[in-house]
Amino acid sequence: MKTKFIFITGGVLSSLGKGLAAASIGALLESRGLRITLQKLDPYINVDPGTMNPFQHGEVFVTDDGAETDLDLGHYERYTEAPMSKKNNYTTGQIYYNVIRKERRGDYLGGTVQVIPHITDEIKRCILEVAEGVDLVIVEIGGTVGDIEGLPFLEAIRQFRADVGKENVCYIHLTLVPYISTAGELKTKPTQHSVKELRAIGIQPDILLCRTDRYLSPELKAKISLFCNIPPDAVITAKDVETIYEVPLVFHKEGLDEKIVEVLNIWTRAPVLTEWERIVEKIKNPSRISNVAIVGKYVHLKESYKSLSEALIHGGIANDCRVNLLYIDSEELERDENWHAKLGEADAILVPGGFGHRGIEGKIRAIQYARERDIPFFGICLGMQLAVIEFARNVCGLQGANSSEFDPQSPHPVIDLMPEQKEVHEKGGTMRLGSYPCNLMKGTLAHRAYGRTSIAERHRHRYELNNVYREVLTSRGMRLSGLSPDNRLVEIVELPDKRWFLGCQFHPEFKSRPRDPHPLFASFIEAALSYRAFRGLEVEIPTAAASSSSRTRPDAVNA
Ligand code: GLN
Repeated sequence: MKTKFIFITGGVLSSLGKGLAAASIGALLESRGLRITLQKLDPYINVDPGTMNPFQHGEVFVTDDGAETDLDLGHYERYTEAPMSKKNNYTTGQIYYNVIRKERRGDYLGGTVQVIPHITDEIKRCILEVAEGVDLVIVEIGGTVGDIEGLPFLEAIRQFRADVGKENVCYIHLTLVPYISTAGELKTKPTQHSVKELRAIGIQPDILLCRTDRYLSPELKAKISLFCNIPPDAVITAKDVETIYEVPLVFHKEGLDEKIVEVLNIWTRAPVLTEWERIVEKIKNPSRISNVAIVGKYVHLKESYKSLSEALIHGGIANDCRVNLLYIDSEELERDENWHAKLGEADAILVPGGFGHRGIEGKIRAIQYARERDIPFFGICLGMQLAVIEFARNVCGLQGANSSEFDPQSPHPVIDLMPEQKEVHEKGGTMRLGSYPCNLMKGTLAHRAYGRTSIAERHRHRYELNNVYREVLTSRGMRLSGLSPDNRLVEIVELPDKRWFLGCQFHPEFKSRPRDPHPLFASFIEAALSYRAFRGLEVEIPTAAASSSSRTRPDAVNA
């Protein structure tokens, strides 16, 4: 079969869940037996999101090949089998960078280099790059139709249909149909305007995804159909859901995957959605409950910890457990005299990755609290580094121990740069990035959780455990349970005399899937549950309460 293309654009406003929609469409088409991949085109000028802070952009998702990408690629990997790489996320910055390099090389010698055709050609080249070996490419265009910076991308996908043939391209547009309570009505005008805007630049959408809080009636679909020149059965309700993993099921019920294969003239088997049904059922009606505290700096923007919060939910799926996430601001922990109370509700404490010195001491305080009270503790990347610092200071008696990231004058830089990082001066794309192998010591917590001795996990950091301190740390009871194959780098530390105390230099959350929860997260939630039982708190959810309280899950997300 010739490769076909789906382009997903967004209208009216951002945050309508375009990434989740793209990922869910991927899941549905994969469940019909198609080989798919996804790509995100972002209109901003940064070459990648690696240099933006999480408040600007949310999480930076890291792929196996070490690309720092948009967090939507995390959704793509969680919902589908498609492996993501550098080629699956391009920004305006990257596209221009490529074109300008070609210009300097002399590729366009004699010509004037312009947005059309040079930039649009480069965009189309990047789209075709991921088409190899798949039946379908789903391309999500970042931003909202009407933004100036998105225009070259929209122009490129407009041209694309003429290049590859009408029957090989499907345009899907996501809009908002708000319910206006004073009128007691759903309003279609924003959708009409947004489609008008898209048509003005030459794209007639084939399918409309209408984000709403309630199902659209046939009359309303008929109205949208008439104004937007789209068949009524191609007007799909994208209703708010309780868990994001319900989106593929809601889309399927609305006939979305059927409509896509009709537009693209593809014949497939019927979709098999039992796995998604099982996941949704497990998330909505678990039999157990536990509270996990996330102590971080970016807690006010949950998007910053997207993969992490999903991985914890996956750990919950593996344990038939609802995981309540208690986000705790580490700077508040530093200021608040009553800081113990905040951590008291937690059945387990997690300190995630992060950069910069703000909030560091609050995180260290939380780690000390977890270690001294033997509360399950999971430190990820920066969280692991801080666990080492806490242990060095308070157990090994190394006063002033720190990371040279926060205190370049520290007498005990237990976390430091390796020689190769000391040579690095540019910030973009220069950290230790992507997948690295790691060997696990037999009989350790890590080994028990993974059930094997060699693993590969994704990294995104500059600093490492300083090997000079290995001996003092281990002599006081810290176990270095995961090392790089050449033994140069410490990847996992543990405190074996604790219930569950583990820090890893990598980011396991990037590889967790709802259909395949990550072993460290599954094991961590298991530990949270048993610590909760040990504390004498109720672990089982009474059956009647299970379904009603699921309506108020604190982490419930509208997709
Ligand atoms: N700031 C630390 C480093 O660069 C940790 C980074 C992280 O947590 N991802 O090493």
